[in-house]
Amino acid sequence: MKPNYPNRVTLAHLPTPVERLERLSKHLNGPELLIKRDDQTGLATGGNKTRKLEFLVAAALAQGCDHLVTTGAPQSNHCRQTAAAAARCGLGCSLVLRGSPPAQITGNLLLDRLLGAHLYWSGSRPGSERIDEVVANLKAMGRAPYIIPLGGSNVVGAAGYVLAMRELTEQLAALQQNVDFIVFASSSGGTHAGLVLGAQVYGFRGQVLGMSVDHPAGELMRNVSALATATATHLGLGTLSVADSVVVNDDYLGDGYAQVGDTEREAIRLLAQLEGILLDPVYTGRAMGGLIDLIRWGAFTRGQTVLFWHTGGTAALPAFADKL
Ligand SMILES: *Cc1c(COP(=O)(O)O)cnc(C)c1O
Repeated sequence: MKPNYPNRVTLAHLPTPVERLERLSKHLNGPELLIKRDDQTGLATGGNKTRKLEFLVAAALAQGCDHLVTTGAPQSNHCRQTAAAAARCGLGCSLVLRGSPPAQITGNLLLDRLLGAHLYWSGSRPGSERIDEVVANLKAMGRAPYIIPLGGSNVVGAAGYVLAMRELTEQLAALQQNVDFIVFASSSGGTHAGLVLGAQVYGFRGQVLGMSVDHPAGELMRNVSALATATATHLGLGTLSVADSVVVNDDYLGDGYAQVGDTEREAIRLLAQLEGILLDPVYTGRAMGGLIDLIRWGAFTRGQTVLFWHTGGTAALPAFADKL
């Protein structure tokens, strides 16, 4: 059972390191903690979208497109990485951001501008309507737009995390390191779907546990299962059932998406001050905060090993300064 990967462009710095969180492990007195540094993938500060964009941009180029269009929240890491990928490959980039422009242009939004992306705001209208308008305008100007969905989470993008699981299993084999759990932030589901499928393809024996950032568990599990199944077909793996291995924890949704609370604040400070590693306020702060809480409740035993997959997002930190 070997995936048939489509072409990809080279954007990421790979393999990203696997490191031990010795001081944090000691502090929590629980399982041994490792971290996979996908905050170091590159593309104007890195993050998980870089692996997806390697396949998405290659697909855009193969279709003769000259402009990337995507969408997200005002502090979207995905949008910033898409803008960087477009610049790197000589493509235009238009971003449709939710809501209206904030008073302060900072964090990812500042980087979007520096990277030369065209910014559009959906205001109170549905984002899809605004995207259709932007795409129609580009076509009227003779451009060939390629539309990337929210988070790059379709079968093309998810392939990036199937491949990432090959990378991780090779690293763990070289280190002769066993991992019982992979824990990470899950939202639009592409990372999760890719990891679950990759785990099956490359024989990873531990559990892949997605910490939901914004969706109830049932909804996210359905999205991830459907995307993983479709991605298996896309990669020529036939019909694979992965539903049983899609596991979601939604206990840490707090006050909702991008609402920073004590969970995020504590996790960000602990990682910064014990390990010199920055987490982000929206995704990895929440997922790590949940992991820390689960460890305190005894959900993992001392003999086990948990790998936290850092998905990036640190460029958003300045935009949340007053909440941190
Ligand atoms: C987008 C993002 C995620 C979630 O990844 P999905 O594939 O959308 O589930 C996690 N962490 C960070 C920092 C992100 O930007």
